[in-house]
Amino acid sequence: MENVIIIGGGTAGLSAAVYAARAQLSPIVLKGDTPGGQITLTDALENYPGFPDGISGFELFQSLEKQAERFGAKLIHEAVTDINFSDHPFKIKTRENEYTTKSVIIATGSDPRKLNIPGEKELIGRGVSYCATCDGFFFRDKKVVVVGGGDSAIDEGLFLTRFASSVTVIHRRDRLRANQHLQKRAFDNPKMHFIWDSVTEEIVGTEKVEGIRIKNLKTDESTVVETDGVFVFIGHIPNTSVFQGIIKMDDQNIIITDKKQQTNIPGIFAAGDVQDPIYRQAITSAGTGAMAAIEAEKFVAHLEGDAYPGN
Ligand code: NAP
Repeated sequence: MENVIIIGGGTAGLSAAVYAARAQLSPIVLKGDTPGGQITLTDALENYPGFPDGISGFELFQSLEKQAERFGAKLIHEAVTDINFSDHPFKIKTRENEYTTKSVIIATGSDPRKLNIPGEKELIGRGVSYCATCDGFFFRDKKVVVVGGGDSAIDEGLFLTRFASSVTVIHRRDRLRANQHLQKRAFDNPKMHFIWDSVTEEIVGTEKVEGIRIKNLKTDESTVVETDGVFVFIGHIPNTSVFQGIIKMDDQNIIITDKKQQTNIPGIFAAGDVQDPIYRQAITSAGTGAMAAIEAEKFVAHLEGDAYPGN
């Protein structure tokens, strides 16, 4: 019987692991198939407190793993396939094992949203990408487009200017959602170009990306923009499918938590992007991970008869 199982090994899960391990709960982190989560796709985190010169996402992830392990967290490379939260203690199945636990922290994060247009799936890895840090290098002196108008699209677009000869942002409206600081940098960068009021219809190419068909929403005109790469940054979808029908979610399938990171089931907590429709920052993921672990510790102590103030 475990005290706490943390599902997910990104910023939220590992921060929860550090706190739970320091509270002597010997947490298990089920890291899933792609550990590290969104920060490992981020080239440089410039707004994570404590790193005045920034830190790479991967470096932060590695440090967090090391820190969690140092205090006794057990990080396991297994993905959850099934859960039973209807009885206590809770049961969690992976392909390899079955676990029984007193409390759970869900920190499964989110995955990039897809355009779901013809050519996208077929050309993933052949010009279609969701990660500038991973794939930008392959587009040295080439033309790329970025789809989206939020912080990610502009941040990653700016990163791509290090390699590409031009970066064209295709956005469905006539103004960006990205913050003013990023907008200024983008508008000042001679390699950045913008196509407004346009939706994507098809990614064109057989062996590799050759272009993207877009439609101008104001004129209804369809055109093909020639490009070597299409980088898609149009938000994220929470990884919550295994919890459907069991844990309460909003209409975007984001887990609903209270102020103590607790879900609708006492003893099941959630942290990070999987429960955050608003902030979605590395620091807020770390913060909610810590909160969930503190509450899980109280929950376990309460089960064991300890009176906790305020519980
Ligand atoms: P986001 O803020 O939700 O922006 C998504 C963008 O994609 C929006 O511009 C949206 O258009 C567009 N979009 C959505 N669905 C689309 C579709 N089907 N087709 C075409 N365009 C579509 O997502 P994000 O940029 O990934 O940012 C997520 C969170 O991370 C935010 O809270 C952001 O602040 C944070 N973040 C921060 C930084 C930073 O601080 N440097 C960097 C990256 C991310 P509309 O504008 O028309 O809705």
